[in-house]
Amino acid sequence: MSTLMLRNLNTLITCDREDRILEHVDLYCEDGFIRAIGPHLPQLADRIIDGTHLWCYPGLINTHHHLYQVFSRNLPQVQNMELFDWLTTLYEIWKGLDERVIRLSTLVGGGELLKHGCTTCFDHHYVFPRNTADLIGVQFAAAEELGLRMFASRGSMDLSKKDGGLPPDSVVQTVDEIMADSIRLIEAYHDPKPGSMRQVALAPCSPFSVSADLLRQSALLARQYHVRLHTHLCETKDEERYMLEHHGVRPLEFMASLDWTGPDVWYAHGIHFNDEELCELARTGTGVAHCPISNMKLASGVARVPEMLALGVPVGLAVDGSASNDGSSLMEELRVCYLLHRLHASQAAPSGYQVLKMATRGSARLLGRDDIGQLAVGKCADLFLVDSRRLELVGGEYSPADVLATVGLRGAVDYTVVNGSVVVEEGHLSTIDEARVAEQARNTCRTYLAKA
Ligand SMILES: [Zn+2]
Repeated sequence: MSTLMLRNLNTLITCDREDRILEHVDLYCEDGFIRAIGPHLPQLADRIIDGTHLWCYPGLINTHHHLYQVFSRNLPQVQNMELFDWLTTLYEIWKGLDERVIRLSTLVGGGELLKHGCTTCFDHHYVFPRNTADLIGVQFAAAEELGLRMFASRGSMDLSKKDGGLPPDSVVQTVDEIMADSIRLIEAYHDPKPGSMRQVALAPCSPFSVSADLLRQSALLARQYHVRLHTHLCETKDEERYMLEHHGVRPLEFMASLDWTGPDVWYAHGIHFNDEELCELARTGTGVAHCPISNMKLASGVARVPEMLALGVPVGLAVDGSASNDGSSLMEELRVCYLLHRLHASQAAPSGYQVLKMATRGSARLLGRDDIGQLAVGKCADLFLVDSRRLELVGGEYSPADVLATVGLRGAVDYTVVNGSVVVEEGHLSTIDEARVAEQARNTCRTYLAKA
């Protein structure tokens, strides 16, 4: 049995059902779960952290990433492009990825997430070049090395350039190949139990790189295995035009006709929904992973988040791939999200605390989990701690629930705990040798880019 005690926390922001904010309480964890919260708890523990000056938050949950893109960020040739040209250029690099690129980019991107308070990551991997083996297995192994709670996906593409899609031939597969590998991955890795460290979703890439048949078959298989469905949708006006030209309908109507709406489906971006479509998302419980930095970087538009929240559409927060971010800090996303909607919607914008809830409770809902995203007895021991005495936080202590989005937190958190284990300590990863991994990753990145 492993145990952890946080003693006398300065402030505990629970994000629980009652939105409780507690002061001077202990939090006790056993075998990955929170077992007690309250003043002066009697339990003893293997590890005790003095919380006298610490603010404690539920671990952030990232609902959309492409970790492999850590090795294609800040590339000068794509800095001034929008989505379609950006993708077409980058596929020429991405078609060269292999197991080593996947392992090291997962360690680097996952490590950055952990250092900034994110404890669960959903990754949308959809590039499977021929002759690569178990890329998703490699991701799970790297996440385990880091101590990160991992939600991977079997992404897919079956429409290459010759069929009117954007990717090159060498990275698309047939529907049969994709379905067989999806079954293999679900059976090998998907653990649906509370406290699960490994889950799998089915995630065809986007309506302009996959066929209707692939979407239909994916939905059938997901329902059969009770796993979730994810894809990019309504990211750009180009996508809307593509759908109208090729299918004669708008993107959401197309997806709905293939059984791609419901509480087990969430879309990345969701920018260009009209009024009726927002109501349809709310009615069906279909979720949206909001990626403000990526949307700004690629000039895609502003997602209608205030309206989504008002209608009850499930909304979570995400960093998106590092080629359009160009980093992996969900903490930074909190502040950018807050400011973007202040600019765009003024008084209708979510508060700092509402943005925090989007990245915790909201994100957990998209992933179909009620065991993470809040700090309460019986929930997973996933959290992060911030020293309230930092110079840059002076004056911010009047509302620790809002401060991460309003003032923002620069630099790493002090501690991150996942599944009851301390994985970031005094701002550094305690599970891997950061300098050594960074050096290996730099060398691998250089070789990978040189190959393209
Ligand atoms: Zn994406």
